[in-house]
Amino acid sequence: MSKHTAAVDPAATPVAELVETTGHAGSEWLSRYSSSLMGVFGAPQRVLVRGAGCLVWDADGKEYLDLLGGIAVNALGHAHPFVTSVISSQLATLGHVSNFFTSPTQVALAEKLLELAQAPAGSKVFFSNSGTEANEAAFKLARRNTGTGDTRRTKIIALEGAFHGRTMGALALTAKEAYRTPFEPLPGGVVHIPFGDVEALKAAVDETVAAVFLEPIQGEAGVRPLPPGYLKAARELTARTGALLILDEVQTGIGRTGKWLASEDAGIMPDAVTLAKGLGGGFPIGALLTFGEQTSSLLSAGQHGTTFGGNPVATAAALATLHALESQHVLANVAAVGEHLRSALAAIPGVTEVRGEGLLIGFDLDADVAPGVVQAGLDAGFIVNSPGPRTIRLAPPLILTTAQADTFLAAFPAILQTAKDAS
Ligand SMILES: *Cc1c(COP(=O)(O)O)cnc(C)c1O
Repeated sequence: MSKHTAAVDPAATPVAELVETTGHAGSEWLSRYSSSLMGVFGAPQRVLVRGAGCLVWDADGKEYLDLLGGIAVNALGHAHPFVTSVISSQLATLGHVSNFFTSPTQVALAEKLLELAQAPAGSKVFFSNSGTEANEAAFKLARRNTGTGDTRRTKIIALEGAFHGRTMGALALTAKEAYRTPFEPLPGGVVHIPFGDVEALKAAVDETVAAVFLEPIQGEAGVRPLPPGYLKAARELTARTGALLILDEVQTGIGRTGKWLASEDAGIMPDAVTLAKGLGGGFPIGALLTFGEQTSSLLSAGQHGTTFGGNPVATAAALATLHALESQHVLANVAAVGEHLRSALAAIPGVTEVRGEGLLIGFDLDADVAPGVVQAGLDAGFIVNSPGPRTIRLAPPLILTTAQADTFLAAFPAILQTAKDAS
């Protein structure tokens, strides 16, 4: 029996009075799913009923090592005792108030995020419920930018391969045609330029550009880091032309790369950063951080808003997550286990390239069998993801241990072989 056995028996919770979470086969839930849930996600891979630490269990009782963490969300794994108790106690005290009011956790979280980002005086925070909403807010911020003049600029530069979300503004920033084309016309003015090409950036950024949106590491494009020096060049170009430099750290932020922000090492201060995924430790919350007084006052009273954003429970969840990450020295673990995984993966036959930082890892295979690897991985008790036909992505809980990583490394050659045999 694992030492991460959940403290809670799902059958003994109040939720079990509403829905029988145990005693039904996964196949039964999946058939009910397909008759009641919109088919935008494809068929779910498994029906999960509980989790603890880096482990989850499905409706048929099978255990998995979760190396995807709800796509870089479950920073502290599943059912973290401190985060769980903070969320429950906040909900039992004050759950929602609307933005006609504020609450101590909202203020404290804004202050904490500005501190972690080493934000200069005058910096501010806007809370949302998701990554795409954080980017919507950033898009609207960009639309208010006049640079050094007084004409609003409408042109925005983003990169090929970019993923910024699925709502219309964020979708306009997202590059992938298959996501965009069915919904055109999208908000205009966004130009996608070749990835990581400083010359292309130089050619694109002039006095008409409102903002440049960049992911320090493109997660959905297969964990593709910007080349060294690119962020610095982008900072210099945008500062010179009065464009905002907006970093989407929805996937890379909050310790994912072993640093609070992936952009930390670049030695630059962007104008804004968006966060979400790992911020709430599994609870939905996003944030737009704006740096300095001028950028922070581009959106004035009434120009943006949200009903749920920054509510007491979500902000308490994020405060608890940040506290646990700090007090348990989790970022040092991220760096060490990430390094271990990357060097070990690079030595496995059939793995042709390993990318990423900390516990955001992408690796390429010598055949187009990544979807088969995901399936074979599940059968072997490991959750991984394939952002491309020959690419595997790992974004596990930041508390993953070396011993847990080693169980995957030991199993991977056989998983890869199974996928190849099946193709
Ligand atoms: C996931 C992601 C988003 C969108 O976040 P949602 O919470 O799914 O809306 C935006 N940008 C990046 C870089 C992401 O990884």
